[in-house]
Amino acid sequence: MKSAIDNMIKLQEIEIQISHTRRVIESAPERLRELITSLEEFERRVESEQSILTDLKKQYRNCESEVQNNLDHVKKSEAKLFSIKNNREYQALLKEIEDIKSKNSLIEDEMIAFLGRIEAGEGALADKNREYEDLKCKLDAQSRLIEAEIEGSRKKMDRLEDSRHEVSSRIAPDLMKKILRLREDVGVIFIAPVKRSVCYGCHMNIPPQMYNELQRCDSLKFCPHCERLLYWDQS
Ligand SMILES: [Zn+2]
Repeated sequence: MKSAIDNMIKLQEIEIQISHTRRVIESAPERLRELITSLEEFERRVESEQSILTDLKKQYRNCESEVQNNLDHVKKSEAKLFSIKNNREYQALLKEIEDIKSKNSLIEDEMIAFLGRIEAGEGALADKNREYEDLKCKLDAQSRLIEAEIEGSRKKMDRLEDSRHEVSSRIAPDLMKKILRLREDVGVIFIAPVKRSVCYGCHMNIPPQMYNELQRCDSLKFCPHCERLLYWDQS
């Protein structure tokens, strides 16, 4: 009976390891997906900064060509001034030239402000790109670790399956059937130690008579509260 109990304790240990290893393998794709998602989120942030910067540069270029158009206009108008004889028309053209020049001066102020924002944006974008490269390196290393972990866990799983098969073959078939039924009811912990009359599966006291019989170790006992298979733990 002692060796049957030992085999079942061993079987339970293997089952616990199998269930842990299975969780590691099953959670891996989700963990890999999380890494990819966080990199994609960062990518989107970099792209959004890039598009803000592109937009600023476009606005700057628009201002630049507006200033140039205005200058061309001024040049033409100034040339026209010489051919105007009528004083009223002359004054009107002069005023138009002055208006365009002051408009250009406003646009140039705007361009200086754009340049400041472009410079700041380029600095921020360079920082973001560096951060992105760092993050990518870190995430690549993490995903390699996860992949190695999956590989290791699969090999471990094979070894555990072999051990389970080996230990199960040492347990009598009718007892094995009982254990399988029990596991469906109580989960992976189907055998529990009893210390000083307490079942460590449910932390309840077992009857004194049962505790005495358990110490004799000559028959299988089940907890009257949680139904787990019991063994006496002398420690
Ligand atoms: Zn119990």
